[in-house]
Amino acid sequence: VAARGISRRETPPRPDYDVDAIRAQFPILSRPVRGKPLAYLDNAATSQKPRVVIDAIRRYYEEDNANVHRGVHLLSERATRAYEESRVKVARFLGAGDPHEVIFVRGTTEAINLVAQTFGRQRVGPGDEVLVTWLEHHSNIVPWQLLCQEKGATLKVVPVDDAGDLDLDALDRLLGPRTRILAVTQVSNALGTVTPIAEIVARAHAKGVPVLVDGAQGAPHLGFDVGLVGADFYAFSGHKVYGPTGIGALWGRRALLEEMPPWQGGGDMILSVSFEKTTFNALPYKLEAGTPNISGAIGLGAALDWVGELGLERIAAHERALIKEAHAALSEIPGLRLVGAPRERAGVLSFLVGDVHPHDAGTILDRHGVAVRAGHHCAQPLLARFGVPATLRASFAAYNTTRDVDQLVRGLHAVRDVFA
Ligand code: PLP
Repeated sequence: VAARGISRRETPPRPDYDVDAIRAQFPILSRPVRGKPLAYLDNAATSQKPRVVIDAIRRYYEEDNANVHRGVHLLSERATRAYEESRVKVARFLGAGDPHEVIFVRGTTEAINLVAQTFGRQRVGPGDEVLVTWLEHHSNIVPWQLLCQEKGATLKVVPVDDAGDLDLDALDRLLGPRTRILAVTQVSNALGTVTPIAEIVARAHAKGVPVLVDGAQGAPHLGFDVGLVGADFYAFSGHKVYGPTGIGALWGRRALLEEMPPWQGGGDMILSVSFEKTTFNALPYKLEAGTPNISGAIGLGAALDWVGELGLERIAAHERALIKEAHAALSEIPGLRLVGAPRERAGVLSFLVGDVHPHDAGTILDRHGVAVRAGHHCAQPLLARFGVPATLRASFAAYNTTRDVDQLVRGLHAVRDVFA
């Protein structure tokens, strides 16, 4: 085992970070998979949920379940209070002073579509430009592409260099008089690149261009401070931050949200309706039509409390140490090629094992109890830029350990053995 570069990498236990105690809070992590301990390294797709989140959802259904903002009865009051408290927690998580700038949505995808179809439709016209980057997930490409097609506008793309970092000189050149919005990720889900987001926002604002930040991968590893960074919109998904699926948030600058037309029509987003005219509700309800995902919002609130108690800084330090370890271990596997070498990385390692197809490698890893993602990671243009249709992706969270890294390394040796 030592010859395969495993035992040498015992991480010194960090006294302030008891990873086994953290793991014990996640029921799924103690369940074997294919008769093996589970090494869950697919956190960029979705994270596992701590007991407090599962309990918060169960308690809501057992004790408080009712519709929000409607009933005069006690349960509706309790459900409304819990739902709105979660909005306050999201605002706090993002450093936003005004909880009414937080719109609950299904996730990052819905948040971006909402902005494209309201703000975008209002601001983008024929001959205008929408700027995205080569690092983007399909969710931060396709909604803008659809908008550009509808409006006769052009989608422009900020290139990346061979390391997987954005070309900021090109950004400056591409930010032109017709640029109506820049949509950029905080962290690449395929390479782990951390973009210099404050710098990017500053450069866009210097040219009067508003910025939407895709925080799907940034929120779980770095968090975000909307005041500090000064972005105009920030989107993230609850399920990647230890919360449930089907819930996420869009934060927007109040003045912009006020100007935006409603997106979906229905209950809750109106003040009054007649067949002649509808008057819309105030923020945030104007942008939340219909019965929302109440239990999801409550679960997200519990997840953000959990992250807050553990401390995002400490989680990030743990993950950084683990990624460093994994990077060193993977680099020693003959024939393994890491894709991308960004200046700053969070959460993700993308790689190939010789010319083994990532799906085959992923299937063998699965038999060893190792869950990774194999594919294009919904970032086909980015992978094409690196000349590969797919990679294996190991992605890390608060509860991963050196044991998980070792299990991954053993699995990768097994992949090599099978295909030798
Ligand atoms: N943006 C990035 C960078 C992502 O990694 C993801 C999900 O993987 C998304 C957007 C879409 O998130 P969701 O599917 O939760 O809407």
